[in-house]
Amino acid sequence: MKVPKVITTYCPKCKTHTEHSVSLYKGGKRRTLSEGQRRYDRKNIGYGSKRKPEQKRFAKTTKKQTLVLKCQKCGYTIMREGLRMKKIELVEVVK
Ligand SMILES: [Zn+2]
Repeated sequence: MKVPKVITTYCPKCKTHTEHSVSLYKGGKRRTLSEGQRRYDRKNIGYGSKRKPEQKRFAKTTKKQTLVLKCQKCGYTIMREGLRMKKIELVEVVK
């Protein structure tokens, strides 16, 4: 799916439709010393221990994509979540 780089949509902060710049959401880096990660590592130590069974097959062929829309007036960001598509492409729209 082709997505324009600039979208005019509602901004809850400005309370009107404004231009938003579009980018793809990418997950942040995992912190190795966070409490959950330390707990997970502790559980994985030793013989015959995996926290959860290993996933052998995967049913879905696509991943859910999230678009990050940033208001160009106030800088407020909104997310468009859960769009399933094989291919996503940000395109410049010539007016
Ligand atoms: Zn705004």
